[in-house]
Amino acid sequence: MNPTLDEVRRRVQPARLLALARRLVSIPSPTGQAGSVLDALAEFLDSEGFRVDRPSAGHPEAPAVIARLSATRPGRTLQWNGHLDTVHLPFVPDHVAGGQLRGSGSSDMKAGFAAAVEAVLSLRDGDLLASGTILLTAHDLHEAPWGHGEQFDQLVRDGVVGDAVMIPEPLCEELPTIGRGQACWNVRFARPGPPVHEVMRPMDEPEVITAGGILIKKLRALEDRLHEQTGPQGLKPSVFIGRIQSGEIYNQFPKECVLEGTRRWLPGSSCEEVEREFRDIVVRACQETGATAEIEFRQVRDAFFLENGHDIVSDFQESVRTVTGKSLRLGVKPFVDDGNSVWSLAKAPAITHGPRAGGQHTVNEWVDIDDLSRVALVYAMTAIRFCSRGTDARIA
Ligand SMILES: [Zn+2]
Repeated sequence: MNPTLDEVRRRVQPARLLALARRLVSIPSPTGQAGSVLDALAEFLDSEGFRVDRPSAGHPEAPAVIARLSATRPGRTLQWNGHLDTVHLPFVPDHVAGGQLRGSGSSDMKAGFAAAVEAVLSLRDGDLLASGTILLTAHDLHEAPWGHGEQFDQLVRDGVVGDAVMIPEPLCEELPTIGRGQACWNVRFARPGPPVHEVMRPMDEPEVITAGGILIKKLRALEDRLHEQTGPQGLKPSVFIGRIQSGEIYNQFPKECVLEGTRRWLPGSSCEEVEREFRDIVVRACQETGATAEIEFRQVRDAFFLENGHDIVSDFQESVRTVTGKSLRLGVKPFVDDGNSVWSLAKAPAITHGPRAGGQHTVNEWVDIDDLSRVALVYAMTAIRFCSRGTDARIA
């Protein structure tokens, strides 16, 4: 066996990990209102003897939480980052059943973050971090459409970012090395007059539903063009329509037609360029019908890429192998997360890896309690390897 792993394993306390996870899940924290749960995390870290910083990072209602564990010898900084806000669904309190922790945010991603905190505590307790620093960050404003990552992005812009970042979102079967950027769009076609009976309609006014139909057709053609592009791992850009709404009753001439959806792009494209293309298409639908359009096009996160050759990838994979016996296959990140911001804003590598969990963005979130200790071990072992790089204390 690996003596360092044995040391870490002796220090990881599953009961302490679960208690923190339950405490975080027990506090409602819909996106934008995660102040109380961030306060609770700050109190916990303070009671454990950490110096805690609380920068507002543009969101004073819920200041972020920053804590560090630094070894006496210099080395690299590894950041463990989590969002403690949850999607806006009815609150489900924490409860344990059948080896799982359930409740709002248990899967996405309070329990995973508690595992990262436990990794910091076990390294601290065993004095196992020989060099470098672990930077722990937690924040609000992650979940769209209520947030767009503004608070985390501000932290990164303010220089609060490690040489590499690990994010305990619920994804554990693969190591994602690529992910698409995502924007939400909303188009509101309108005509100037009020709603009227169809037989009274002014014949010189545009048909907003026809404008919507033309937009659907044009976006369908765009989707066909986008599907001809294939990126690494078979990823394709896309445009998606998820909602269309117009009219009050069948024989009233409607005033508005609203469409909503997403646009996703591959690394190498930018949000600005796909937004320009999208706006041009909407403008053409307006020209063909005479309708006016209000367009909202909002980036959720830029695209994501992870260089396979980076030190953090080999240190992480080696640690997964040490803990579980085999490393992870490379894959795709199906969602956007803070790792996208790390790559696009700081050009630092980011690894998304968390516990076996599910039900994210539903009222049935769960996480396997047993797997949380595995995550803590993998995080701790990765830190021991990565933070000692570039120093004399480097561990082979
Ligand atoms: Zn999440």
